[in-house]
Amino acid sequence: MATWLEGHIVERTVWTDTHFSLRIACARPDFIAGQFIRVALDIDGERIARPYSCVNSPAADGFEIFFNLVPSGPLSRPLSTLQIGDTLWVSDRCNGLLTLQEIPDTARDLWLIATGTGVGPFLSILHTAETWQRFDQVILAYGVREAPQLAYSAMIDQLCQNHSNLHFIPCVTQQAPDSAYAGRVTQALADGQLEARAATTIGTDSHFMLCGNTAMIRDMTTALKQRGLKKHLRREPGHISSEKYH
Ligand SMILES: Cc1cc2nc3c(=O)[nH]c(=O)nc-3n(C[C@H](O)[C@H](O)[C@H](O)COP(=O)(O)OP(=O)(O)OC[C@H]3O[C@@H](n4cnc5c(N)ncnc54)[C@H](O)[C@@H]3O)c2cc1C
Repeated sequence: MATWLEGHIVERTVWTDTHFSLRIACARPDFIAGQFIRVALDIDGERIARPYSCVNSPAADGFEIFFNLVPSGPLSRPLSTLQIGDTLWVSDRCNGLLTLQEIPDTARDLWLIATGTGVGPFLSILHTAETWQRFDQVILAYGVREAPQLAYSAMIDQLCQNHSNLHFIPCVTQQAPDSAYAGRVTQALADGQLEARAATTIGTDSHFMLCGNTAMIRDMTTALKQRGLKKHLRREPGHISSEKYH
C-alpha cells in the first residue's frame, strides 16, 4: 500500500496554455536525479495518481514537476488548475532507473534526448555535480512542436554559461526560430545535425538517455542501434537508457 504525504503548491508556472510547472512543498523522500514521484489528487472520492519526473535538484527543497495537459486524461487537467496554497498528495518514495548511477563508467559523452516534458529529469541531472565530474561533453537535445513550448530555456541558457561542455540543441517542428533545428530530434540525428551542432561524434563511448514519447524513443533507439550502440541493461551494459511517458 502506498503511503501518501501531503504537499502544498508553493509556485505555479504557466509556460503555455497546455504546459505547466508546479513546485510542491512537502516532507519529501530522498531521490536521485532522473527519478520520478507519484502525485495524486482526490477526484470524485477516488485517489487518482500518476508518475511525474522530479525536475529540481535533489539538493533543493520539495519537488518540482513539469507536465502538459492531456485533454482526455483524468489527472493532468485538475493538476493544471491547482493554485498556490492548494494541497495534493505525493508518494513517500521515488523510483526510476533513468539516473547517472545506472550508466557504465566507460561512457565519456552524455547525450540527453527529450521530447516535450521529457526534459524534466534531465534538468535535475544537469544540476548535479556528478554530471560535470564524469563526462567530457554533455548534449541536451529538446524537441517540441512550437518554440513557446521550450520551457526552462532561461535555466538551460544559464547552465550553458556555467558549463562550456554543455551543448543545447532545441528542435522545433513548427515555425522554428533561427537558433533551433527545424525538425524532430530523430531527423537531426539522421542528417548529422545533432553531431555537427554538438561538435561531438557518436560512438561506443557515448551514452544516450531518452525521455518522452514512444515514437521518439523507438525511432532513436533503432537509429542508434544502426550506429552500433545497444540498449543498456543492468545485466548487459549498453549505451541507450530510456523512460517512456506515453
Ligand atoms: C515514469 C513516468 C514518468 C512520467 N513523468 C511525466 C512528467 O514528468 N511530465 C508529464 O507531463 N508526464 C509524465 N508522465 C505521464 C503522466 O504520468 C500522465 O500519464 C500524464 O500527465 C497524463 O495524465 P492523465 O491522468 O491526465 O492521463 P492518463 O490517463 O495518464 O493518460 C491518458 C492518455 O494520454 C496519454 N499520455 C500520457 N502522458 C501524456 C503526455 N505527456 N502527452 C500526451 N499524451 C500523454 C496516455 O498514453 C493515455 O493514452 C510520466 C509517465 C511515466 C510512466
